[in-house]
Parts: sequence; structure tokens; C-alpha cells
Amino acid sequence: MRPEILFPLFSDVNRLAGVGPAAKQNIARLLGSRDPLSVATRDLLFHLPQSVIDRRKSPTLQEAKQADIVTFVVTVESHHPPTGGKFNRKSPYKVLCRIGQDYIAVVFFNARADFITTALPEGEQRVVSGAFERYGPLAQITHPDIIARVDELEQVMQLEPVYGLTAGLSNRQLRKIMKLAQAKLPALPEWLEDAHKKREGWLAAHNPQDLTQLLPASTHRRRLAYDELLANQLALTIVRKQMKKRAGVALASTGKLKQQALKLLPYALTSAQEKVIGEIENDLQSGERMLRLLQGDVGSGKTVVALLSMLHAVEAGKQAAIMAPTELLARQHGKFIITMCEQLGIKAVLLTGSIKGKGYQEALDSIKSGEAQIAIGTHALFQEKVEFHDLGLAIIDEQHRFGVEQRKALVQKSENTHLLVMTATPIPRTLVMAAFGDMDSSQLDEKPAGRKEIATKAVPISRAEDVLQGIGRALEKGEKVYWICPLIEEAEEESMTPDLAAAQARYVEFTHRFGTKVALVHGRMHEKERNAAMAGFAGDEFNLLVATTVVEVGVDVPEATIMVIEHAERFGLSQLHQLRGRVGRSDKASSCILLYEDNCGEVAKARIRVLRESNDGFRIAEEDYKLRGAGDILGTRQSGLPAFHFADMQHHFTELKTAHDDVKLIMHRDPKLTSERGQALRCLLYLFNHDANVRLLEAG
Ligand code: ADP
Ligand code: MG
Repeated sequence: MRPEILFPLFSDVNRLAGVGPAAKQNIARLLGSRDPLSVATRDLLFHLPQSVIDRRKSPTLQEAKQADIVTFVVTVESHHPPTGGKFNRKSPYKVLCRIGQDYIAVVFFNARADFITTALPEGEQRVVSGAFERYGPLAQITHPDIIARVDELEQVMQLEPVYGLTAGLSNRQLRKIMKLAQAKLPALPEWLEDAHKKREGWLAAHNPQDLTQLLPASTHRRRLAYDELLANQLALTIVRKQMKKRAGVALASTGKLKQQALKLLPYALTSAQEKVIGEIENDLQSGERMLRLLQGDVGSGKTVVALLSMLHAVEAGKQAAIMAPTELLARQHGKFIITMCEQLGIKAVLLTGSIKGKGYQEALDSIKSGEAQIAIGTHALFQEKVEFHDLGLAIIDEQHRFGVEQRKALVQKSENTHLLVMTATPIPRTLVMAAFGDMDSSQLDEKPAGRKEIATKAVPISRAEDVLQGIGRALEKGEKVYWICPLIEEAEEESMTPDLAAAQARYVEFTHRFGTKVALVHGRMHEKERNAAMAGFAGDEFNLLVATTVVEVGVDVPEATIMVIEHAERFGLSQLHQLRGRVGRSDKASSCILLYEDNCGEVAKARIRVLRESNDGFRIAEEDYKLRGAGDILGTRQSGLPAFHFADMQHHFTELKTAHDDVKLIMHRDPKLTSERGQALRCLLYLFNHDANVRLLEAG
């Protein structure tokens, strides 16, 4: 149960004075709350100011400069309502005020007169703060940000934090609410031993004393980031311990099946493949449950690593399963794996969403009885209905978009299943630690020999005609070409997305230009049609494939040699690299042409340059990370990356590493978190909503 000291932080924002239903709704929208019905005060406090307005300046009217933010104590002299009657809304309401011997006008457009007369009563003194303006000799402030009583001067003349806002919620209102929320902050127990990491935290973060305190490098932002990362690393370690502890079964194998399989392959393994398979076999034999992340660039040969790992499990008398993110990929894996298995005398079945009726039931039955030793499929594989006889190894392919929660769910489905997650998007080290800290990691850092480098060219769209002519010649020579259509943000609730419209326009255009051997694939197509089109492209039917980004992941048509990406500047680096990896899969020379908007921005150009210069997925991932941040690497929506409030991986890498080491030590000394510091750390876990992890601690 959540410690009592945190109750005030987890009480609902509507308990704060002045937060009614409307304000609460706005706050929920502002914070992107998952449950708008309950928004905790804590969530509000996690929303830190983005900038500050300096209201400490009170120059003389002669010194004041246009657009300066100024704060004055004025004496209200006289009111001048709009002339021309109430229908003339264009004319402003002016209040003439005096500062010593000088005059300044406070000006309102479309304001209610009663509001103005109450706010600025004639003959009285008031504080006004806002942007200074000068019209000829006349000084004025239009719509002051603040009108206050003179005794409030000190509170006004401050560095005012500015928050990210949403419609219906002004900075003033939010600041007031924030102040009330800050008053709820309990004196939390200290969970750090390190005396030098002083706790200043929240209060300081909400009340910056100068601009530098808004930076990620400032002491209190670093402390908050550290707290968050410590909670993250602690939570991951608890999950890891819990998952490892469950009876991992030692899978023994003589390696006979593997030797037979290797003989069937038309190539020898790369040394990277051998190294990685060795790591996996060690895990499988160790008696501890395997939790491993395998990163390997596109074309590095992960599929065969998966197959050999599964054979190990099969030889040990267990079942193995591999899950792909799309039907297309599942079928592709199925083709290779089932063919291999037939020759080895092993039964492998395919189970996807589009397999219906009798075939589906047969697959289910054979998985349940254990007759099927290997299952290949999509998400369908891990549905409730699917029962395995004795699943020893689960492999998830191309799934970096798979958070710790899903992994946990999957692994908990079966008490002693080993888990291998494979991803083609190399993930920067920092992200591995933060998002996959519960797993061990392997890298396939070498491509199969004999691969030709892919020649990458960047061409401005104004010269697209040259490219098209080149493609015409290539098609005549029998080459296969991908044409990727521009990425367009989806407009919601339209019958046809702009992506699709663009792809269809290209398809029609190319059919006219190049003849009938053109195919189209896009995400809105039925799986069946899409598979047919892909199969036609892999065979002789088509030689030009127009596609949206659906071909991004894993598609393998080794004969394809040219990849054109239209509006390359709109894609992320890693995504471009993935797309490029669709060619260069045979011994033929391949090329990738990046068509870019002539006047695209500097960042876009920098990205295209990186891609032209490098074919190394790991380097590209690091660069992408530098240029665009984590969301774009892992895919924004379901990145699997925990959503951090305070930690920014680009700035807080040191904090992450320290937190990582800190957690190792903590778990060594006090694995159940029972000491005084352990209790404080539990409080930290609750604070960052890792309640489930504390429960795991109790259960274990
Ligand atoms: P990815 O890592 O992108 O999933 P794949 O497993 O699809 O890569 O392999 C890409 C291609 O490389 C396949 O056509 C596969 O047959 C081939 N391949 C895999 N390993 C080797 C190797 N050691 N030598 C030569 N070709 C290989
Ligand atoms: Mg693959």
C-alpha cells in the first residue's frame, strides 16, 4: 500500500481551492491524463515551467523600451470609455494613470467596463505589469498581464514561471493552482545516500531564480531526473529479478539438429551470428530464464539465429514460437522456417489472423497437443485461446515497440519460457538501459560477407525526371525497384489518407509510364491483397513496387536493387536506414535514391547527409537520437520507452548510469528494500507510479 506520507500528493486536484470541474478538465487535457476523472496533485507538480517572465524591472518611463516587460505602481487618474457608443467596438477603453509626474495609459480592447472600473478605481494606487509600448510621446500598456494591489507588489515583481498551457487555462490561473499544489508537498524521506546530491527538487523547479535554472543541467532538474531514473532502474531490476527467478528450465541440447540445419544452409554463419547463438545457448542451458534483446541491423541475418535457437529448444523436448509484427513477415518467416523444418523432420505451423476455420483449428490443436514443435505467427500466437503444450522459448521479432509491461505479460503467461526479443533498429546504449534494463543484450554487428555496399544518392525533387529515366532503363534490364511514397501526417476521419492518395497517384502515373508490371501496397489494403502484391513483386509478375512505409520492416526480396524514397526529408533517419535495407540483399550492386525537397531545413539535410555517409545502423541510431530524440527512433506511439517527466536522455546520461550502478548496490545490500533507506526507496517507487513493482517485491 502507498505510504501515508504520499497521500496529499495523490489526492485529486479538485481538492485544491479554485479547481472546479472545468479547471480540472483543462488540467487533465494539459497533462494528457489517461483518466480525466482522477488527476492527482502529483501529476500537476510533474508539469514544470518551460520559461520565465522577468517582472522585476521598473524603469522610468523615459528609460523603458518598447516591448519590455515592466511593473509599475500607478495612480489611476481618469477613465475614458470607448468613443462612438457601444457599437464602436474598435475603439479602446483607456485608463489614464500617473507615475510621479509622468503619465501612462492602460488600454483595453473589447473589455467589460465594470471589470475595468473595479480593477482600476479612480484615485487609487495599483500595480500593473505587462509589455511596455510607446506611441510617439505616449507611454502605454495594453491589456496588462497583472493588475494587483500595492501590498502585492513584492509577489508581482518576481521571476514568473511560465507553464505550457492549454485552452481555457491561463498562466495566472495555473500558477495559483501550482502554488496550492506546492503547499501540499510533504517532507519526503531521503532515498539518496549521497550528501552532495542535495534535495532541492520541486519547489526550486517551480520557482526558478534565473533562466539557467530551467535548463536540464541545473541542479534541481538533475536531481528530479535522477530520482525518476533511479525509480525506473529500480523498477526494471525488480521485474528482472522476478522474471529470472521463475523456474528457468535448463534446456540441454547436443547440437545435432543445429549441425544438420547448418548443412542445409547455402552459406556459413558469420562470426557475429556464431557469437550471438553462443550467448543464447548459454542462456538456455544456464537454468536461469533467458531475457535477451538481440539487436542486429537490417540484413544482419537474425532469422537464422532465431531458427537455430528454436532448434535448441526443440531438441531439449520443448516447443518454440516466433512472433512477427505483421502477417507479411510472419509468412515470410514461415516460408523459410517451415521449409527448413520439413527437411529436419520437425513439425512447424503458421498461425496468423487471416488463417480461419479448419486450418486455424488444426493449428491450435497441434500447438496444444505439442505435435507442433515450432509455431510461427503474429500477435494471434499469444492470444488467450492459444495454449501451448510446453513452450520453452518465445521469440519476438522486429519489436522494439514492445514495452516492459507487454514483456512481463508475455513472460508471465508461461512459467518457464525463455524470451528473445529481436530488433533491427539499433538502439542507442542509453535507451537500452532505460527501456530494456530488465534484459541482457546481444548485438549482431557484422553483415554476411559478399554484401555490396548500397550506393546512396541524394537528389533534389526538381531533378526527379532524371531519376525516373534511370529507373526506366533499370526496369528494362530486369531490375526490381521499390518506390516509397512520402510520409504524410494522417488527417483524421478522412475516407482516404493523404499517404494513400499520394501512393495511388504514383501508381497510376507509373503504370502509364512504365507499363503494367507495377504493383501497389499500402496499409489500408487487405492482408490478402497485400500479400499477393508482395508475392508478385518477389516473383516475376511485378518489377516496380509503389508503397507507403508498410515495407519498412523486414520485407525480404533479395532481387530488388533500387530503392527510391520520395520526400526523404520527412522520414526519420532510422526509418530511412530501414527502408534502404530492403535492397542490397544479394550479390548485385544496389542503390538508394533519396529524393528531397529542394528547400528543406538544415536538420533534414543533416540527416540525409548522415545516411549518405554511413551504412552503419548503430552510428545512424546515435545520430538520429542526437538530431531528433528518442520518440522517433523507437516510434513515437508505442516506443516501449517509459514516458519520462524530468529525465531527458540527451542530457541526463550520467544520471542514468549512476542510477543504474546505484540500483545494483542497493539490490545487493537490501534486495527487499526493508532498511530505512529501503523504505524511502519504496516511497520513491510509489511516487513514480511503480506500485506494481513494489507488489512484486512483496510477492517474491
Ligand atoms: P534480418 O536481420 O534483417 O532479419 P534476415 O535474417 O532476413 O536479416 O537475413 C537477410 C538475408 O541474409 C537473408 O536472405 C538470409 O538468407 C541471408 N543470410 C543470413 N545469414 C547469412 C550468412 N551468414 N551468409 C550469407 N547470407 C546470410
Ligand atoms: Mg528480420
